[in-house]
Amino acid sequence: MQIIITLIVFTISFSQDIPTFNGHRAMELLNKQCDFGPRYPGSEGHKEMKKFFVTFLQPLVDTLHIMDERMSHPYQRRYIELTNYLARFNEKAQYRIMFMAHWDTREMADMDPDPKNHKTPILGANDGASGVAVLLALAEILHALPPLNIGIDLLFVDGEDMGHSGDADKFGLGTQAFAKQVPEPAPQFAICLDMVADKEQRFPIEYFSLQQAPQVVQAIWSLANDLGYTQFENKMGSAVMDDHYYLYKHAGIPAIDIIDFEYPNAEVNYWHTLQDIPENCSAASLEVVGTVVTHFIYQQDLGYK
Ligand SMILES: [Zn+2]
Repeated sequence: MQIIITLIVFTISFSQDIPTFNGHRAMELLNKQCDFGPRYPGSEGHKEMKKFFVTFLQPLVDTLHIMDERMSHPYQRRYIELTNYLARFNEKAQYRIMFMAHWDTREMADMDPDPKNHKTPILGANDGASGVAVLLALAEILHALPPLNIGIDLLFVDGEDMGHSGDADKFGLGTQAFAKQVPEPAPQFAICLDMVADKEQRFPIEYFSLQQAPQVVQAIWSLANDLGYTQFENKMGSAVMDDHYYLYKHAGIPAIDIIDFEYPNAEVNYWHTLQDIPENCSAASLEVVGTVVTHFIYQQDLGYK
């Protein structure tokens, strides 16, 4: 991992070659997902989203792996069908970075202040659609300006948000399935995006990220600060068992999470409520995260030997 830091210092002068990430385009892609409605496994929105992934990604990528998984529902006596999508760019490259986001949404608004809503599915504008929107916009950029040296993988995972509180191994089901069959060549490390579209954006460092891949955390946070994005805060946040945690645990791939869990702030939280809607998300916030990952990719690519 030491190589990452060195390369960023070396390549910073090439920044004029780095494409612009457009937050409004990412917001369109967030809205598009929410137009399908809730997207939990078995829902109509889930089916529509699956069609959309293929239509959108197929023309842009080198290879699209569509990875179907049939497994028992974590709490009900029935099967569920999950699908992970792995979009690969520069597939022959051995040195690879993977970006990941979950595309499913939670079937129950169990944190809603009104108990009557606790069984209603959420729209998942921030918790689901935001990370996916950044990665879909990134796919367009990677298609327009393909990386020359490094490989980029975009992993869209299903079944992240089906667990009940306190039941850690029932979350991240799609990632747990992916971790058992990572296609070669496997990425060196991964960066997960989740809940990135908050209007009051703050990214303290997530606990497991620092444990699992400290140099990736350092590289991303210092790059963000160099770009002027002080919302990437050099202080510890809470521990979040997100897809990055399951990827490292089950596949050994070091992974970090860029997540703003206070949505929108420490006093109010729309997480797992019916307020997780596009109106509470921001194109400007999507642009910040998209710009950081775009710079990270092309700085790595231009400096990689
Ligand atoms: Zn969630």
